[in-house]
Amino acid sequence: MGPDSARVAIVGGGFGGLAAARALRSAPVEVTLIDRRNFHLFQPLLYQVATGGLSPANIATPFRWALRRQANVDVVLGEVRDFDIAGQRVLLGDGSIAYDHLIVAAGATHSYFGHDWQALAPGLKTIEDATRIRSRILVAFERADREPDPERRAALLTFVIVGAGPTGVELAGALAEISRHTLRHDFRHIDPGSARILLVDAVDRVLAAYPADLSARAQASLEELGVSVLLNTSVSAVAEGEVTLETRGEPPRGVPCATVLWAAGVQASPLGALLASRTGLSTDRAGRLAVEPDLSLPGHPAISVIGDLSSYAHGLERPLPGVAPVAMQQGRHVARRIRDQLRGAPAAPFTYRDRGTLATIGRARAVADFGRFHVSGFPAWFLWLVVHVMNLTQAQNRLLVLTQWAWSYVTYNRSARLITDGARPSAESEPGSGGSMH
Ligand SMILES: Cc1cc2nc3c(=O)[nH]c(=O)nc-3n(C[C@H](O)[C@H](O)[C@H](O)COP(=O)(O)OP(=O)(O)OC[C@H]3O[C@@H](n4cnc5c(N)ncnc54)[C@H](O)[C@@H]3O)c2cc1C
Repeated sequence: MGPDSARVAIVGGGFGGLAAARALRSAPVEVTLIDRRNFHLFQPLLYQVATGGLSPANIATPFRWALRRQANVDVVLGEVRDFDIAGQRVLLGDGSIAYDHLIVAAGATHSYFGHDWQALAPGLKTIEDATRIRSRILVAFERADREPDPERRAALLTFVIVGAGPTGVELAGALAEISRHTLRHDFRHIDPGSARILLVDAVDRVLAAYPADLSARAQASLEELGVSVLLNTSVSAVAEGEVTLETRGEPPRGVPCATVLWAAGVQASPLGALLASRTGLSTDRAGRLAVEPDLSLPGHPAISVIGDLSSYAHGLERPLPGVAPVAMQQGRHVARRIRDQLRGAPAAPFTYRDRGTLATIGRARAVADFGRFHVSGFPAWFLWLVVHVMNLTQAQNRLLVLTQWAWSYVTYNRSARLITDGARPSAESEPGSGGSMH
């Protein structure tokens, strides 16, 4: 690449950033992809790591490997702290990167709607979140096995999942399968199948973004698996060992439980608010930046914002959803726009091609919305499997995941059932508490 090549800085190597970098493969540009992690994470399969079905490396691909054949991309491991808009530089903790074009694709994180519940009700966004949740689930069963008091044992075997969107539904379905099938023969003092799995949502149906008939089918599948679906119900307090639930029209009630998992809210990366303040723009309530039809920031044609961090609403009733296909198509669109610009061609507006949405509930159970066609049950699950396996970044992982799923489909086994992160049953970590043996 010559010294005069345009410099493209990409912040974030998630679905949007990585797609943009790849689509610039043969463009006369020098790309710098900056991420605070050294790997691309396939978030749609995080719940499989959280429930012991897959290992972290199955769903993560190192950037240097993914981009090893693309000579015009330099990968930088670093945390972006700020933007110097006038000087056209991205500021890291330990240096800065100059750009002619900036693509910001820093994604989103959980929202607890202003509550400080992160530690008590972990959400699922990173590999660390997934292994932490996995440990909590498995430790709860271990502790229950040694707990002589029936009430405390029941609380240890109660799992509350807050939020019945796709992630909450996946987690609830997988937890039901673990307790009813995977762990069935593993314990001597408890019946894991007696575990209570409560899926709670403030709205009146599960998968609220899907058509009503698919919501109803998803709820029926969950209930067949043994999940209790509590709708019109919100969580008003989370404390160690108890959540308080409020169902519309009823008084609040405390539910003793050892494990609460959060799948309720999403908030854009704090880089959104920072970029807004540096460019004199503002964010919406979810922290996202509204973009122009070509995905650039208003008044800043050199800066594009894509994926979960952006809000694209042109010609639509509501902004595009925070899903991987939107981020990937936007990444490719910005790459095309940069190439067009370098050739002096005008910037074309972005249009999203919605090829349908899929949500899985468990083994052979899923729902798929293709606009006029709605599919559920095994065909939807099979489609879900094909789409997810084919989209894994690394070919080696596609093969590994397929083999692992084929094996667990037949045996119900989830071999990545490891307690890591230093999590210990409390009987070991707190001398004198519990610890009595059967
Ligand atoms: C549990 C879960 C399940 C999901 N399931 C589905 C699904 O089934 N189907 C679907 O379509 N979508 C699903 N999604 C949504 C999908 O993952 C997102 O829409 C998509 O990841 C958005 O892409 P993005 O590029 O905007 O951000 P991301 O993919 O989140 O990438 C953001 C990147 O930016 C990096 N970054 C952030 N801040 C900084 C910083 N300050 N400095 C440096 N780097 C930074 C991060 O490390 C990350 O690599 C799911 C999401 C989650 C959390």
